[in-house]
Amino acid sequence: MMHGLLIVLSGPSGVGKGTMYAKLLRAMPDLRVSVSATTRKPRAGEKDGVHYYFMTKEKFVAEREQGEFLEWAETVGNYYGTPKKPVIDTLASGKDVLLEIDVKGARQVKAAYPDCVTIFVLPPSEEELSRRLKGRGTESDEQVAARLALAKSEIAVSGEFDYRVVNDDLTEAVNKVIDIVNSIKGAKKC
Ligand code: ADP
Ligand code: 5GP
Repeated sequence: MMHGLLIVLSGPSGVGKGTMYAKLLRAMPDLRVSVSATTRKPRAGEKDGVHYYFMTKEKFVAEREQGEFLEWAETVGNYYGTPKKPVIDTLASGKDVLLEIDVKGARQVKAAYPDCVTIFVLPPSEEELSRRLKGRGTESDEQVAARLALAKSEIAVSGEFDYRVVNDDLTEAVNKVIDIVNSIKGAKKC
């Protein structure tokens, strides 16, 4: 049976994954994205069912216990998880699926679907990561500090990923991801 490619994009908060993701979707119109569930509160402009499925901890835990997540993790004080059925159904229909998830989630996906491709997005420097995270202006100083501390430990294990892409120039970084996907499509399927 024809299966799509499962693409996992990971990297520290503020590195530019969401920005790259939006450009990737425009460049690859056949790519499907997974909408994650989270217990985090919506940021200004974020819509339920579009950016995330926002839910209480109780609902998240109940869904997790029913086996509804492909992977899940607690990160920066909230639960995040990938709803399993839409991903499996989309892959089975032959379409590629992009997951934008944290390092712990990426590990779980690689263990369950070894043929997926995992890509870690690196910042050009720690200083630039800090600038981007603060410049986004969506987290409190405390949350920024927690995300920067986590970033160091995530970058330290980025060698576990199949590919690492530095997001310095945005267009170049997006083109590198497109090249990676195109080079393995057809050969490596989930
Ligand atoms: P993430 O999804 O990884 O948390 P975002 O996509 O929200 O990160 O990006 C964090 C901030 O960095 C945003 O303000 C975004 O506009 C900016 N940004 C993203 N990529 C670049 C880049 N290549 N150069 C400069 N700023 C960038
Ligand atoms: P944010 O709160 O900035 O949207 O996301 C925080 C972190 O959670 C990011 O590293 C993001 O990649 C990760 N994340 C988002 N959705 C999921 C998910 O479904 N599973 C896991 N494991 N991590 C996720």
